[in-house]
Amino acid sequence: MTLHSAQRTRLLILGGTADATRLATAIAAEPRIEAVLSFAGRTDNPKPPPIPWRVGGFGGVRGLIDYLRAERIDRVVDATHPFAAQMSRHAAAACDLAGVPLLALERAPWQSGEGDRWIEVDDLVAAAQALGAAPRRVFLGTGRQHLDVFAAHPQHAYLVRLVDPPRAALPFPQVEVVVARGPFDRVSDRAMLQAHRTEIVVAKNAGGDAAVAKIEAARDLGLPVVMVRRPAVPARLTATTVAEVMAWLGHDAALAERGV
Ligand code: NAP
Repeated sequence: MTLHSAQRTRLLILGGTADATRLATAIAAEPRIEAVLSFAGRTDNPKPPPIPWRVGGFGGVRGLIDYLRAERIDRVVDATHPFAAQMSRHAAAACDLAGVPLLALERAPWQSGEGDRWIEVDDLVAAAQALGAAPRRVFLGTGRQHLDVFAAHPQHAYLVRLVDPPRAALPFPQVEVVVARGPFDRVSDRAMLQAHRTEIVVAKNAGGDAAVAKIEAARDLGLPVVMVRRPAVPARLTATTVAEVMAWLGHDAALAERGV
């Protein structure tokens, strides 16, 4: 069946996560949705998704409103990382001002359970302080941004995992770098922590399964985890699964079967 563009929903997906890629895969099979997946451009070679994509910031709230209008976007799904709070704030403000419905695809945060030794903190500055004054062997699973916060605590020996090889030397006197792209698995993360003789792990409470391996590995080894709580984002309509997003788009499996 050929559809006119007027019959299709024009969707902007704000991405940069495994969830956004999963959603893009579901949408690629849905001819009634014309979607574009947007990346910030933080990683050098994002894995090409199965739908059209674009890279780079929009230029703040104003720039995003202009984009929504120029591209005649009908709906927006914010599937950014829970720590990409600025993009989420901009999306909420721009969609509100432009009158475009917004849904966030938001995974639940991880909860500590039996065997976990979490030290929960509000931000990375507090995380760096929580490592203490005595030298420790630290795994930083917090990404490339804000490593300078930990550079103020040079007494520790850091193991840093990054998606891309660093372009310049990292700002630590004692550092090892592992270049790897998730999803990660528990057995490999346990082996990595053991090989580095890690004593403490620093993580952002991302939720989901792509990055949980380091938390499980720390539990297996009885290691403490400095867990950074999520930043605040505006109240918005949220979904926790791709199926819920598809239903919000009016294209769930039941509707498709009825030919709606
Ligand atoms: P951020 O602080 O919330 O965003 C900073 C600026 O980057 C935004 O104001 C926006 O620029 C641009 N931007 C962010 N996400 C974008 C997107 N999907 N498409 C187009 N522009 C985007 O975000 P961040 O923490 O730097 O994260 C950047 C990206 O990496 C996000 O897409 C996020 O999903 C992904 N990511 C982040 C983390 C993390 O820990 N923060 C972890 C994994 C993946 P303009 O104001 O110019 O529009």
